[in-house]
Amino acid sequence: MKKNEALKSVSEHGTPLMIVDHNIIRENYKLFKKHLPRIQAYFAVKANPEPAIVKTLFNMGASFDVASIHEFMLVHELIKEMPEQKRHHFIYDKIIYANTIKSIESLKTLRPYKPLLTYDNIDEIKKIKQYCDTAGVVLRIKVPDTGSMVELNSKFGVLPNEATGLIEAAWKEGLVVEGLSFHVGSQCTNFDNYVKALNIVAELIREAEQKGYKIRIVDIGGGFPAPYDENVPRFEKLAKLLNFEIDRLFPKNIDIIAEPGRFFVATAATLVTQIIGRARRSGKMFYHINDGVYHTFSGCIFDHCTYHFDSFKNGKKEVCAVVGPTCDGFDKVSMAENLPGDLQIGDYLYSLNIGAYTNASATYFNGFPPAKIVHINQ
Ligand SMILES: *Cc1c(COP(=O)(O)O)cnc(C)c1O
Repeated sequence: MKKNEALKSVSEHGTPLMIVDHNIIRENYKLFKKHLPRIQAYFAVKANPEPAIVKTLFNMGASFDVASIHEFMLVHELIKEMPEQKRHHFIYDKIIYANTIKSIESLKTLRPYKPLLTYDNIDEIKKIKQYCDTAGVVLRIKVPDTGSMVELNSKFGVLPNEATGLIEAAWKEGLVVEGLSFHVGSQCTNFDNYVKALNIVAELIREAEQKGYKIRIVDIGGGFPAPYDENVPRFEKLAKLLNFEIDRLFPKNIDIIAEPGRFFVATAATLVTQIIGRARRSGKMFYHINDGVYHTFSGCIFDHCTYHFDSFKNGKKEVCAVVGPTCDGFDKVSMAENLPGDLQIGDYLYSLNIGAYTNASATYFNGFPPAKIVHINQ
């Protein structure tokens, strides 16, 4: 982000202001496709559900992982605009509904669309059969997520040794088991998780085939790490490993799909905030800003992520605290930021790499609205 451009946006829109650069989203998408040419990317809408972002990725050729009717409709609006002949298999090619638990109402709404749905338990199969029997299904497998920033496998996925039973159960209900899926945990920097998961799934596919069930999709989920700092291992290294394992384990007629969320959007947004108060507390400078953990920095809580601040002004740096505007003592974004100690009320701070799991989970707590979002290079 160019600082003068950010300040120009701020003079126009005020703060807190999230600036989303669509050139970066497109670059991230291209990087993914360049290094993983066999894999179709289904952007996990929950990472950042801004319609403009969904549209940019749609235009790049991405597909989508949705987890609610609202997200489904957001993507479906775009599909509706496609030429008729291209819409042939539009749901399978463009959307996977990757929430293993769906309400009865949601299933009824989804039924006319012949959706692709994930599941991980027997009750869900019965529900899908009863309320959305047009669906194809994908069984979510529980896999190791050691060292990932956000774990998902304590809430989702069936143990590998129970998977074959659930594949059989779905077929017996007359549902087509199209694929197997997993998620190694978000911001996964331990790439061994992917290797283990791919091997588990390959073995399950072999087992299913022996029983006469043909699986045609492997969904390797999300977890692709955003380069928040120099300690994050490089995406290129992960891609190389994935390509090697995938080509070794799965014949060419198996479609490989993935559900990257964070990887496409984290680096695409910058947040500009304003200092609304300052106080030295027990010797440390506290900058009170107009955004906090209930708002754009909600990722501090839900995403277990840390964010950093830079100032537009130079000055002698010291360890400062940066805290949010609400009356909650918990609303502290960072207790140790290296910032000039003489910043004044009205000065701006900015935070990079703030595009994933941030505005997506912001609230209106304490009467403070979420940051305004502007899109550039759309
Ligand atoms: C959240 C989620 C994703 C996206 O994960 P990232 O780590 O952001 O890539 C993908 N698939 C499912 C099922 C998810 O719940």
